[in-house]
Amino acid sequence: MTGKTTVPRAVVVGAGIVGLTTGLALRRAGFDVVVCEHAPEIRAAGAGLGLWANALAVFDELGIGDQVRAIGKPSEMHFHDPAGRLLDTPEFGAEDHRYLLVHRAKLNDQLADAVGRENIRLGTGFRAYEEHADHVTVRMSDGSSEDADVLVGADGAYSAVRAQLVPGFPAQEHPGHHAWRAVVPAAGVSVPRNRLILGSHGCRGGYVRTQDGSVYWLVNQFRSPPLTGTRRQQALERARFLEDQGEDRVLADLIESTPEELILHNQIMVVPPLPHWVSQRVALAGDSAHAMSPHITAGATLGIEDAAVLGHLLGSTGDVPAALAGYEAAQLPRYARVAELSAAVEHAPTPQEFAWHYAAFSHWMLTQRPLAQDRVGAFQ
Ligand SMILES: Cc1cc2nc3c(=O)[nH]c(=O)nc-3n(C[C@H](O)[C@H](O)[C@H](O)COP(=O)(O)OP(=O)(O)OC[C@H]3O[C@@H](n4cnc5c(N)ncnc54)[C@H](O)[C@@H]3O)c2cc1C
Repeated sequence: MTGKTTVPRAVVVGAGIVGLTTGLALRRAGFDVVVCEHAPEIRAAGAGLGLWANALAVFDELGIGDQVRAIGKPSEMHFHDPAGRLLDTPEFGAEDHRYLLVHRAKLNDQLADAVGRENIRLGTGFRAYEEHADHVTVRMSDGSSEDADVLVGADGAYSAVRAQLVPGFPAQEHPGHHAWRAVVPAAGVSVPRNRLILGSHGCRGGYVRTQDGSVYWLVNQFRSPPLTGTRRQQALERARFLEDQGEDRVLADLIESTPEELILHNQIMVVPPLPHWVSQRVALAGDSAHAMSPHITAGATLGIEDAAVLGHLLGSTGDVPAALAGYEAAQLPRYARVAELSAAVEHAPTPQEFAWHYAAFSHWMLTQRPLAQDRVGAFQ
C-alpha cells in the first residue's frame, strides 16, 4: 500500500461500462477509488446493449442488480432467416438465450451514480504511469498525478494504458466488418415482435423493443464492400439481405424512419491476443484487454466479469501483485477460449450453424463462470 494511509487506493482509467463497474467493485472491496475519464461527460457510444446473466449476477453482488433490471427489457437471442423461419437450436435450453436489453447511456448513468460522481474526474486523460515497488504514479493530461496501490486501464480498444503495459499491440480493424445501429421511438412503424435475422452477404441484424417503448435496430456486415452513400443508405442496402421484401419489412421501415444523425456507424476494431494483461501494479480490463468482433454481443458482459474478478481478488488480499497475477491467471485463458468459440461463430458456413455456435458460446459463457456467483434468479 502507499504507506500514507491504511485505505488502499486505486486509479481506474476510463468511465465506460467496465471502468465504472471496476470502480464500483473496488470501492466495495474497500478501496478509495478515482475514475479518470478524458471525455467531458459520462457518455456511452452505442445504443442498446445486451447484458447476459453473468453481468446481472455481478450487478447483484455489487448491490445494483434491481436498478439495472428496472431499465432493462428481458429478451431472448433467437435467430431467424430472412423469410422469418426460426433457426432452431434444440440442444440448448431457454436460459442459454436470455439476456437483458438496456440502453447504454442509462446504464452508464446508473453506474456513475453508484461509483459516486465525486469519485469520477471528467476531462482528465491518462498520459503515463511509473511503477514503483510499493505504488504506481499515474500522470494525467492536466499535469496532475495520482499515487495509488493499483492502476486499472479500462480505457477501451485504443487503450493508452495498454500501449505502455504491452507495447506493440494496437487495436486493428476487423477487415470489412461494419455495424450500424440506433435506438428510435417506434412511432409510425409497427414492430409486432423482436427479430434477429441471419441473412446473406455476411449480413446480420434486426430489431428489439426496449423497456421504454423505443426500438433498438442494428445491422452488421462481415466482408463488406467499400462503403458509399449516407449511413442510412448503407444500412438500408444491407437490410435487403435480411428481410425478404414484401409486407414484412420492419427493419427497413425502422431504418428509413431514423434521422441520419441518430445512426451510429462503426468500423469494428479488435485487440489482438495479448501476451499478458498485468504487471505488478497495473491491470487491463474490458475492451482494453480484449476488444473483439461483437458478433457474440458479449464484450461488455465479459468486461463486467473482469471487474468482478479484480474486486474479489484485490479485496481478499493486501498483496496487489499476487491479486493481479491471480486475475491474469483466471481471465487470460478464459479469454483465449472465448476467442476460439467466437471464431467458430464468425466462420460458421451457414446461418443455421451460426445460430448453433452462438448458442454454444452463450451456454459455455453462462455455465463456465470465473466466479462462483449463483445465476439462478438473475432474470427474476
Ligand atoms: C456494434 C457493437 C455492438 C455491441 N453489442 C454488445 C452487446 O449487445 N453486449 C455486449 O456485452 N457487448 C456488446 N458490444 C461490445 C461492448 O460495446 C464493449 O465490449 C464494451 O462497451 C467495452 O466497454 P469498456 O468500458 O471496456 O470500453 P469503452 O466503452 O470503450 O470505454 C472506454 C472509456 O475510456 C475512456 N478513455 C479512453 N482513453 C482514455 C484516456 N487516455 N484517459 C481517460 N479515459 C480514456 C473513453 O472515453 C471511454 O469512456 C458491442 C460492440 C459493438 C461495436
